[in-house]
Amino acid sequence: MTQSHGFATRAIHHGYDPLENEGALTPPLHLTSTFAFETAESGAQAFAAEREGHVYSRISNPTLDLLEARMATLEGGEAGLALASGMGAITAALWTLLSPGDELIVDRTLYGCTFSFLHHGLARFGIKITHIDMTDPQNLTEAITAQTRMVYFETPANPNMRLVDIRAVCDIAHDAGALVVVDNTYASPYLTRPIGLGADVVVHSATKYLGGHGDLVAGIAVGSAELIGRIRLEGMKDLTGAVMSPFNAMLVMRGLKTLALRMEQHSKTAAEVADWLASHPGVATVAYPGLASFPQFDLAQRQMARPGGMIAFEVQDGMAGGLALMNRLRLIHRAVSLGDTETLIQHPASMTHATYSPEERAHHGISDGLVRLSIGLEDADDILADLDQALSKGQVALTA
Ligand SMILES: *Cc1c(COP(=O)(O)O)cnc(C)c1O
Repeated sequence: MTQSHGFATRAIHHGYDPLENEGALTPPLHLTSTFAFETAESGAQAFAAEREGHVYSRISNPTLDLLEARMATLEGGEAGLALASGMGAITAALWTLLSPGDELIVDRTLYGCTFSFLHHGLARFGIKITHIDMTDPQNLTEAITAQTRMVYFETPANPNMRLVDIRAVCDIAHDAGALVVVDNTYASPYLTRPIGLGADVVVHSATKYLGGHGDLVAGIAVGSAELIGRIRLEGMKDLTGAVMSPFNAMLVMRGLKTLALRMEQHSKTAAEVADWLASHPGVATVAYPGLASFPQFDLAQRQMARPGGMIAFEVQDGMAGGLALMNRLRLIHRAVSLGDTETLIQHPASMTHATYSPEERAHHGISDGLVRLSIGLEDADDILADLDQALSKGQVALTA
């Protein structure tokens, strides 16, 4: 299996040959915490990293190795690391790569727990956090200083879908000697591959599209062998202990096998729903990278292979209207998380982004009326019918 094989082929086959494993089509699951040494001396060598081999499953495990290799090839990076959750990946990476006195520049909009980790976690350890509007790379040129050690962002950003021009931001950051870390959860490597555009490390909540079935919590980091090796031995092994269970690694690998197929269908249905929402009189605004009205439509065309499965929209009567709409849905579930086979709707201001204060939400571009929709794999007509009955009841109530 080489990098010249297509994305879907590598997602299914990379790094595994059944004929080397008693013919087993599916890779074996190594449910073991520890690994026996042939001799005391070989154990000492393993600890001193003088020979290859597994020691203990908080450091490495053969089942995790395979998932890590698959994610590395899919993201176009040298090495991957499997962690307990998306937050495990983010905290392990940032704690490893930042030191007191460093400055971290981040976009205005971030996933709620990332925002909370930066402001209530990292900031306490003497790291300066600066938010800028990274949709305009010029803002980074103005903000970056000699103390800037890292630039971090999501694209599309959770929850409002703002995009960041990865290549432009990487060029500016690297000129100033800073690392770039990208949270690629919303896009998945099928839509966007930040490392090919210059990013140093990509992090994922594998809970979302990579797993794809809402049955696990997991995280992934991908980057150079040097950086990932450090995050493994510092951030994962010692600082957080946030290692993925081999059982979850097996489930994520099962999800990866259909990632290409699922992202195509999520994108196709979401495009249809976004079009429909944009022309509905009860809907005030729709943010979806596939709509010609999307403010960064050109960047989306350049940077995303497909517009993806996530939509953010606002109904006409703000927060009350958004909550009323959610309560009227019958097929679409009211739930956080995203990237599942089920269509999910949630209200960032009271749920995933409640870790921001109201003033912070206003400043960071998360309006109170914004509703986030993760389009699943149901028939598009059924999703539209559910939204239609919920939105049209809203209209009746408004005019009554
Ligand atoms: C869900 C999510 C996370 C956190 O991932 P967990 O697996 O829940 O820890 C981080 N970033 C983004 C963009 C997310 O959507």
